[in-house]
Amino acid sequence: MRDYIKDNEDMTGSSFDERSTDTPVYYLVDFIKEIKKCSIVDISATNQSSTDIHINCTSSKAMEDFLKSIISNEFQQKLFDLRRWLQVQHDIESYDIMANCSSNGIEKAKQRLHFTGVTRSLNCAEHQNTQCTLYCPDHDTFLCTACRESKHGTCLGIKQVISERSYVEQKRHLNIKSIKGSYNVKIDNTLINRDNNDQYECGITGMCMLPNSKVLLADSMNNRLKTLNSLYKVVSHCDVRKSPYSVCYIGNDTAVAGLRGNTIQYVNILGNINLTQLEKLDHVCYDLACHGDTLYVSSKNTIYKYDKNCKQKQVLYHNPKIIYSPKIAVSDNGERIYLGLRTDLTTIDAKGNHLDDSSQIDDYNTLLHNICDICIAGEGIVLVLKQKILKNNVHQLDYNGKKLQAVDNITLDILFLRSICFDRERCRLIVGSGEDKIHVYKCEFLPS
Ligand SMILES: [Zn+2]
Ligand SMILES: [Zn+2]
Repeated sequence: MRDYIKDNEDMTGSSFDERSTDTPVYYLVDFIKEIKKCSIVDISATNQSSTDIHINCTSSKAMEDFLKSIISNEFQQKLFDLRRWLQVQHDIESYDIMANCSSNGIEKAKQRLHFTGVTRSLNCAEHQNTQCTLYCPDHDTFLCTACRESKHGTCLGIKQVISERSYVEQKRHLNIKSIKGSYNVKIDNTLINRDNNDQYECGITGMCMLPNSKVLLADSMNNRLKTLNSLYKVVSHCDVRKSPYSVCYIGNDTAVAGLRGNTIQYVNILGNINLTQLEKLDHVCYDLACHGDTLYVSSKNTIYKYDKNCKQKQVLYHNPKIIYSPKIAVSDNGERIYLGLRTDLTTIDAKGNHLDDSSQIDDYNTLLHNICDICIAGEGIVLVLKQKILKNNVHQLDYNGKKLQAVDNITLDILFLRSICFDRERCRLIVGSGEDKIHVYKCEFLPS
């Protein structure tokens, strides 16, 4: 490869295309050049034994195709040829020539996307509420952990494309670029449709993203669920029996709301929001989170696991010391569940093992700082909304639930904040308050 570089000072120029050789090195590079919407912009030697090939992909689809290509059998065959050729022709043992979707490479590529202000995350085709962290070469598809268990049990060579390590190593944080705006979510047409007006000041205690950057709100003061369009205008609402404390999108145009007491209300969010079935549980349901086919429900000192139809109940985690039902969030790979316990965050794994007893988020007196909500921003970053008198902070924690080093809190000078969610498509932080408003911030991911 080094020799190749010596002969080709201008990798991107025409000399590159005009060359005609038949060594496996060229086959390999030619293969990359054939991938649509991907182009080699630079090839450079980084040190004595390695070479960087810089490739630009003009769209996230192109990036996906590229990643699929380099772990395809055809590419692997070309690598095998290269290794054999080096061994036979040059007597070089070259076990370290291999291709895989290294998490580092993916992250570098994703970082480029972030700096253009777009956060791309790959939702599972089967589970629209769940991120893909795996790739199956047999089916040539990206998938989530739930899919691996249910549909790819016999597939060989499933690769982890986003690993725990990549979460921890990438060391990025979220930065607020600007406020996009504050939006009124109170339904008040006074004369037009008097029966539909919100009676009380809104209390947005739960929020979640829906497909196409729409937002679902739980207004616990008016016992209503509301959907906002991508311009944050209330476009639909429905009344529920009791205060909704939390909402969660579970895929297939369906969302669930945890109502005060022990019921879970299902709603269809396609077009106008519509109530569907109501499920009664035998315990309180405070917060909800969904990953793959699993619905997590927090209830006082216990975290339950259900399927998406509220069947197959299992106790995931029980801790008699917990007094208040925790807010919960699940990491993208489904391996970490974060519990907001009053003032601190506890992390458990997918089997319910206690991983981290109590990550002290604040250094100072924590008694005044209650965790109101938790959400996952992507990139392994966990956002925790903490409320204190006259000031609210959004803390950023890493995948392990540890405070990101040297990253200031995002301080929001808004009273009565209740809930947060993160729009990954548009890289925006949305905050729900108790004052008829939601507040939207444009964000970007920066290296820490
Ligand atoms: Zn899936
Ligand atoms: Zn498969």
